[in-house]
Amino acid sequence: MKNDKIIVKCCICRREQTGKGWQYSFRINESNRVYAHGFCSVCYDAAAVRAKLYQVASVVPVLR
Ligand SMILES: [Zn+2]
Repeated sequence: MKNDKIIVKCCICRREQTGKGWQYSFRINESNRVYAHGFCSVCYDAAAVRAKLYQVASVVPVLR
């Protein structure tokens, strides 16, 4: 199997990183493609905000 391309796929929204940014893809079973999972810019920001909220909630009991 020839791995000619590694595609970065967002593990949250499943979009793929392309030359034109993060886009949804409907490719099916292309065995020569290798996927690497990560966060797209939007989901990364959302995850960062959520992590920050948990952090705040852990030190301010009333927010739990
Ligand atoms: Zn995403």
